[in-house]
Formats: sequence, C-alpha cells, structure tokens
Amino acid sequence: MKLYNLKNHSEEVSFSEAVKLGLGTNQGLFFPTELPEISKKQLDQILKMDFISRSSKILGLFIGNEISKKDLYKTVQKSFDFPGPIIHKVEKNISCLEVFHGPTLAFKDFGARFMAQILSYFNKNNDEYVTILTATSGDTGAAVAHAFYKMHNIRVVILYPKGKISEFQKKMFCTLGKNITTIAIDGSFDDCQSLVKQAFQDEQLRKKTGLNSANSINISRLLAQICYYFEAYSMLPENNRNKLIISIPCGNFGNLTAGLLAKSLGLPIQSFIAATNSNDTVPRFLKTGIWKPNKTVSTISNAMDISQPNNWPRVEELFKRKKWNLKDLGYGSLSDTLTKETLLNLHKINYISEPHAAIAYRLLKKQLKKDEYGLFLGTAHPSKFKTTIEKILNTTIPIPQELLNQINLPSLSYNMVPNFLQLKDFLLKK
Ligand SMILES: *Cc1c(COP(=O)(O)O)cnc(C)c1O
Repeated sequence: MKLYNLKNHSEEVSFSEAVKLGLGTNQGLFFPTELPEISKKQLDQILKMDFISRSSKILGLFIGNEISKKDLYKTVQKSFDFPGPIIHKVEKNISCLEVFHGPTLAFKDFGARFMAQILSYFNKNNDEYVTILTATSGDTGAAVAHAFYKMHNIRVVILYPKGKISEFQKKMFCTLGKNITTIAIDGSFDDCQSLVKQAFQDEQLRKKTGLNSANSINISRLLAQICYYFEAYSMLPENNRNKLIISIPCGNFGNLTAGLLAKSLGLPIQSFIAATNSNDTVPRFLKTGIWKPNKTVSTISNAMDISQPNNWPRVEELFKRKKWNLKDLGYGSLSDTLTKETLLNLHKINYISEPHAAIAYRLLKKQLKKDEYGLFLGTAHPSKFKTTIEKILNTTIPIPQELLNQINLPSLSYNMVPNFLQLKDFLLKK
C-alpha cells in the first residue's frame, strides 16, 4: 500500500512507514494512493464471512502485500479479541450501532488495538525501541494504554491535564503500570498537546526514544474502523439495507472518514450525517463554504470539544478523488440543552444513552425520511459518563465489573509542570 502526504503529494510512503511516522513533513496527513473497490459479487461474499475473516479481507484490500494474509488474520484476531459491534433497536426505523463494548468502553479500542498490533508486527524484525507519547483529554489515553499494555520494546507515555479528567477516566489508564507511564500535567489539555508537539520537533529526542504518537491521525486506526461498518451492514436485515443513513458524532472526524472509506470500497451506504456539538466548524463550513474555527467551548460531550478537526482534510480529499459532492453530506450541531433533552427522550423509550450518541440520534431523527433506515453510532458506554447522565436522567447506571476492579487500584501517575525540558529529561532518563 502506498500513501501520499496531503501537504506534499510527491512524498510517498509505504503502509508500514505511514504507521511508524504518523504524519508526513509539514504535519501533512497520509492518504491512500489507490482506493480499492469491490464488485457486488465480492460484497456478497464478504458479507457472509465472520467478523475477523471479513475484517482481515477488508484491511488486506487496502494494505496489499506488506503483510501476508495469514499474518494479517492473526494480527486482526489479536486486535479485535473483545465483544464486537451490536445493533440495538431504538425505534421502528432507527437503531444504535454500539461500538463501545471493548476493554475501555469506547470505539477507540478498535483503532488503538489494531495500531498496537500492527506496529508491534512491523517492529518484530528490527527490534527498535519505540516510545508512544500521547496527550489525552480522556478516552484516547485509556484505549492506547490498554492496547499497548505489556508489549515488548514499546513504552507508552500519556500526558493528561491534572484534575481535568474524571476520576473514573483516570483510573482506567493510570493504574496499569509496567510499560505504561502516566504524567499529570499541572495545566490544560492544550498544554499537554503542546508538550507532545515540542517533543516531535526535537530531533535528538525523536531519534533516541523512537517517538511515535498513536493519535487518531495514524492511518492504521482509521483503516481498523472501516471494519465495523461492514459488520453493521452484515447484521442488518435485507429490507433495512436499501436507503441506509448513518449518523456519526464527530470530533476529529476519524470515524466519519472510516465510514466514507467503507462506502468508497463499495458498501452501499446512501449517506452520512456529520453530527457535532457546539464546536461546529464543519457544519458551518458545509452550510456557508467558509472555514472559520471558533474558540473551543466545553460541552457535556467532551470527546467532541474540538474546533480544528484533524481528519477533515482527508474527508475533502476523498470527496475529490471519488468525484462525490460535499453537498450530499448531511450535517448538524446540537447544544448541551438539546442534548440533555434528547437523553431524556431516549430514556423514555427505554434506551439509556450518553451525550455523544444522543447528538447523532437527534440529528438523524430530524433528517431521516420516511422510507429510509437510520443508524447512529454509540461511541462510548454510558457508564463512562456516569455522573453527568445520572444527574440528567435522575437514575443510577451500573458500571461493568471489570471496571469496578480497576477503580479500586491506586493511581501510579507522576506529576509535572508544563515544561518541555523537564519532560525531555524524563523521557531520556527513564
Ligand atoms: C473520540 C470520540 C468521538 C469523536 O470521534 P472522531 O473520530 O474523533 O470524530 C466521539 N465520541 C466519543 C465518545 C469519543 O471518544
């Protein structure tokens, strides 16, 4: 598989290079040079397979001969070794595609685990030491930490803003130890992200520690997410497959990019809805044609509090390459007040959801036409937002047992002020 840099089309890399590098020069995103397409007959065959076989087949179509079919199958099997997606019926013509049944209860487990396994596979022969340095405002940290836990020759260092993530989120990744190091930064999420950026600009540090980022711009994470769109389609009854609309709660737009790649491969999805909270740069752009990010505001759907989405250039490139029209992409944004109201409405029809999925549901319900069928993505388990949801719904929601065990373990985090030289010293010594 070849990929080019969206900021410099003459820079072309292999899949393994793109996985290791994350970004190209000038922070450019990598994008597939060839976009594979399957025939109707191939689609029918693929839909009949089990989840692991089908996912290996789909990933193989993109990745090509950089990994043998057998090794790819094993890698996918190790990556997706947890409960797969579930379709939960909410109304007559609307269901939630729940992709949050993995070890850290968010869809990010799919991408993070595949990235961890494929990186470790490509690293096996040259035995290089890798440091994964990443900043998190919650979900990414947990998914990445669990995905790389106990892996040989890979150290994970996660920075998070001290006191600004929930106790529950913290316990999910700060209690692991071994090759997972967590640092509470006395500052904001932006401070954490800026420390990561500075680290990547430091040539000496990069070389000495084998720095890699593991964030959602890594192409391996996106490719892994294509697989659950096919799984969803295969689970749907025939009569719900015509006119299928999928609504996605968007932050960095990785999930939407993966859905669009599934469509470009030949999965018959009629259209998508890009749903955001008040951080609505993309909906406003789609409406007015003007790209004008506002200052990021805090909302109850905090994983989507992003006003400069990383993956948007990939969405635009895909539309251009496929000669699709951006006018056909559905969109919308929702305030916290309406998100809360929607959670209550869903509860009334016996579905306990969480703020991210609720936004996608509300916009889907508003835009879905009579003869269409809609899926909205459930990106995180409601228990991850326990306090918020319990206050809104005035009810208690249970926490899965595995998590209860982890909550009682002590946090092993280091503390640090947002000072790059101090971080560099720490990374070089440890
Ligand atoms: C990360 C995340 C999102 C946003 O996904 P993107 O791929 O960044 O658009 C939505 N919901 C939850 C719960 C998340 O953790």
